[in-house]
Amino acid sequence: MREVCYCGRTGEIEDREPVIDGEGGALRCPNDECGHVDYLLWLSPENRRIVMKEAERRSGLNRSTAA
Ligand SMILES: [Zn+2]
Repeated sequence: MREVCYCGRTGEIEDREPVIDGEGGALRCPNDECGHVDYLLWLSPENRRIVMKEAERRSGLNRSTAA
């Protein structure tokens, strides 16, 4: 799924950094100057779970392996 951020970045939605928020998941733009967070209220609960799992997986990674 490709999407366009308002900062002009385009790419796969999976490239964005998943974060967990109170509503159950969001994607943050990897562009540091943007940092736009999209909440995933438009996603189905099933897809939101996938994003949350990815967020948990990434947050569990040791930064030494993330370069
Ligand atoms: Zn952006």
